[in-house]
Amino acid sequence: MSQLAIKGGKPLRTKLFPAYNTIGEEEKLAVARVLDTGNLSQFLGAWSADFLGGPQVRAFEAKWSEFFEVPYAVSVNSNTSGLYTAMGAIGIEPGDEVIVSPYSMSASAVAPLMYGGIPVFADIHPDTFCMDPDSIEKKITPRTKAILVVHIFGHPADMDRIMEIAERHDLYVIEDTAQAPFGTWKGRKLGTIGDIGVFSLNYHKHIHTGEGGVIVSENKELAERCQLIRNHAENIVEHKGMETLPNMMGMNYRMTEIEASIGIAQLDKLQSLLDQRIENVRFLHEEFKKLKVLEVQKEPENSIHCYYQDPIKFNAKKAGCTRNAFVQAVKAELPSAILRENAPLIGAGYVRPLYLLPIFQNKNALAFKSEKSPKDLSYERGLCPVVEEMHFERLFTHEFMRPGMSKEDMLDVVNAFEKVLTHANELND
Ligand SMILES: *Cc1c(COP(=O)(O)O)cnc(C)c1O
Repeated sequence: MSQLAIKGGKPLRTKLFPAYNTIGEEEKLAVARVLDTGNLSQFLGAWSADFLGGPQVRAFEAKWSEFFEVPYAVSVNSNTSGLYTAMGAIGIEPGDEVIVSPYSMSASAVAPLMYGGIPVFADIHPDTFCMDPDSIEKKITPRTKAILVVHIFGHPADMDRIMEIAERHDLYVIEDTAQAPFGTWKGRKLGTIGDIGVFSLNYHKHIHTGEGGVIVSENKELAERCQLIRNHAENIVEHKGMETLPNMMGMNYRMTEIEASIGIAQLDKLQSLLDQRIENVRFLHEEFKKLKVLEVQKEPENSIHCYYQDPIKFNAKKAGCTRNAFVQAVKAELPSAILRENAPLIGAGYVRPLYLLPIFQNKNALAFKSEKSPKDLSYERGLCPVVEEMHFERLFTHEFMRPGMSKEDMLDVVNAFEKVLTHANELND
């Protein structure tokens, strides 16, 4: 086989990979219809008929709750604002501890800080990369108030054990379902198992509205508190006759009519987009297994993995080179494997374990300054050994299963992997 591109050889493929674009005529028409009305948002931050938004927002929420089989859906302008809202709704206060995952987008760990709560990191399970229930149990203290679960990469967390632990300790469970829309845990839709679920509609996600998010709940009171926090709660509570007032300082986290109209069209595409991802992953995994040194994730039993990303464990010993060297060399073989500049379709690890971010290292958030903040709080390196080993040494993630990839596109990826592995020993100097 020819020389590795990273050593000056010819790259295996330079042709662009198909772009992931789910926006079509349906969305264009929907937006045009909204523009024609001149009404781009109908929210009013006062107790009135428009407190819950305009016709598109309401129709989008109704459709979301039908599709996800959950009684309440509250749209917001991002998953991040949805997580903040959820922390407010469950009444997080200074000194309350929330167990969070170190392997996620930063908002899933930062959310408790918004209300003075303290994020406590549980380690991940080496197969699911979601929080390990055994580690969660060890992190519970008398101050623990909630568990913020993340279905990372689209793989469901072990919801049976997490719900059992939560029940036993009387804790709320919030599901960050940004990466797992239409994923399931033993037949139940992710996001609808805990007390509150939060979805993302940002540009990178399975379906999107540019920016956006949706909060779901089966609990009427929690859903109402989310509606209040989304839209100037402080202005509403008196007229609404609310009696539980903590955290009823509102934000403006409202979604516009345009985004909601796009969301309505996008929802119709979700199932088919997810099915294509699963089909592509199954094809890739069959090929990857033949390469012997890649450990792909097993499909969860009686549950659906959404494959936002496909996490793969690299066996450096068998391969004869490190994971980093492998990924670097693959990138050189596939220089066109980018989403945009600086956004490659394959990467070594995912995000740095979140407790290593400056906000935790320096404890520079007001929550840490509260006298109720625990004194023995540590975010040292070594805190969660499994996530550190996975991130810094073993795991790589890719998005070559995105809808739009043909078998030929995917075979180019497999061939690039194979080419690099055949020359692995040349990568050690
Ligand atoms: C994308 C993402 C978020 C943030 O979503 P936004 O809508 O961009 O705020 C949070 N958590 C996870 C796991 C995500 O993937």
